Amino acid sequence: MTQTISENSAQTETVYIGLGSNLSEPGQQLQNARLSIAKLAGIEETGYSSVYTSPPMGPQDQPDYLNSVMAVNCTFSAQQLLKQLQDIEIQQGRIKTRRWGERTVDLDILLFGQQHINQTDLTIPHTGLTERAFVLYPLHEIGGDELIIPGYGKLGQLMQTVPLNGLTRLGETGNEN
Ligand code: AMP
Repeated sequence: MTQTISENSAQTETVYIGLGSNLSEPGQQLQNARLSIAKLAGIEETGYSSVYTSPPMGPQDQPDYLNSVMAVNCTFSAQQLLKQLQDIEIQQGRIKTRRWGERTVDLDILLFGQQHINQTDLTIPHTGLTERAFVLYPLHEIGGDELIIPGYGKLGQLMQTVPLNGLTRLGETGNEN
């Protein structure tokens, strides 16, 4: 018998979400976003990394970034989750600026179980995940060496090819100093 999984299926996936901010009290922005995500009906938080800081990836005339990664059990579809995360970005006052420009909060779906998704508005694994220290190191903190990045292999091996590039681990919130 063929099983069809609908958009609203209650199948649970292990999902990793990347959080980033470099405007309007970034540590607080990350905490607010984490709380908003954890409160969503289809989400159960299962892990949260330390907060890390790093120089901006794009234009250099903007503040350093804070980044973290959250692990959740998720019963939303990937598209439903994307919409929920975009709503949280808007609630926290995100305004589109230049490419790789400053932002109050940026929420990215890094991994959605072991799924590959290539849709016009959604790419999973997230583009650049495998090259960005500010994603890989916090992801490793909660996912560990054995986490499989679909299409790329084990996280522990992938990390060996990506230097820290100025990435520094802060504490649980990024406001400790
Ligand atoms: P950004 O400016 O980095 O927040 O990119 C936002 C755009 O990336 C949105 O239009 C999303 O539809 C798109 N996007 C593609 N893949 C993803 C993903 N895995 N997680 C979040 N946004 C994504």
